[in-house]
Amino acid sequence: MGMDVYGKNPTSDEGGYFRNNVWWWRPLADYLLQTYPDLTGECTYWHTNDGDGLSAESATALADALQRDLDNGNVAAYAAAYEDRIAALPLIECTLCAGTGLRTDAIGRQYGYDVPHDPITGRGGCNGCQGDGKVQSWEAHYPFSVENVVEFAAFARASGGFEIH
Ligand SMILES: [Zn+2]
Repeated sequence: MGMDVYGKNPTSDEGGYFRNNVWWWRPLADYLLQTYPDLTGECTYWHTNDGDGLSAESATALADALQRDLDNGNVAAYAAAYEDRIAALPLIECTLCAGTGLRTDAIGRQYGYDVPHDPITGRGGCNGCQGDGKVQSWEAHYPFSVENVVEFAAFARASGGFEIH
């Protein structure tokens, strides 16, 4: 599952197609919407596969803004702050073992996860949390990177407008 973004009138191979899986697309789209509301507003449905998108003029304006903020370090600063926020997220209770570190449901019993984790054999303990009882929150699975913005900016610049599917 992911977002396939197609250039409407590409001027190069780079402008023909851009893809992020759902984990990568959401933070990228959120960044674009929050940072450039005036440039992204023409497209209503950034988070669904409706084929909404931007005109050639708007895609070029967005590419210009992205290049400016890549050059002046604004994107890098956003990425660093984003990573800090993810790193600071508290761990949450593992749902497979209800935070106990021992998975005692039918599957857990069947596969031997219902006994304490043995660090030497690697056996036992919950398979969701390796016996810790805690896991990363779901937000930690949504990455954001400068490189991804660089790729999207290059796509937008050469896309001739685009549609999100
Ligand atoms: Zn667990």
